[in-house]
Amino acid sequence: MEYNITRKERDCIVALYENSGFPLRLFNIADILKIKAPTAYELVKRLESKNIINKTNGIISLTTYGISIYDEIIMAHRTLELILTKSGVNSDTACEQIERIDYLMDDVSVQKLFKSLGQPQTCPHGKPIKVN
Ligand SMILES: [Zn+2]
Repeated sequence: MEYNITRKERDCIVALYENSGFPLRLFNIADILKIKAPTAYELVKRLESKNIINKTNGIISLTTYGISIYDEIIMAHRTLELILTKSGVNSDTACEQIERIDYLMDDVSVQKLFKSLGQPQTCPHGKPIKVN
C-alpha cells in the first residue's frame, strides 16, 4: 500500500464513497462520522492535502486517487471478511474486526489472498469484492 492513512481518514473515505449520491458538506461528514465540526475540519484539511478529497464550493468528494484508495480498502475488507466468516466468525464480528486493519493491508498481499480464495465475487454480506 503506497498511501498512509489513519483510521479516521479511512472512515471518512468510506463514508464519502458510500454517500456519494448526496452533496456532502463538512457538517454532513461530522454527522456521519460522529465527530465534532473542528475535528471534521482538520480531517478534511488533511485528506485534501494528501489529494484524496476535493472541496468545491463547500461540497466534499473523493478524487480519482481517493476512489482508488477506497477500492483497495474495500477489497481488503471484503476479502479478509470472507476468510474470517469461512473460519466460523460471525459476519458482524468479522466486519468490526476487519475495519481496524483493512486500510493497513498491502494490496499485493490482498490480491494473493483473493486469488487463493478462488476470486470470489461477493463478500459475506453479498456485496461485490471488486468495486470499480
Ligand atoms: Zn464489512
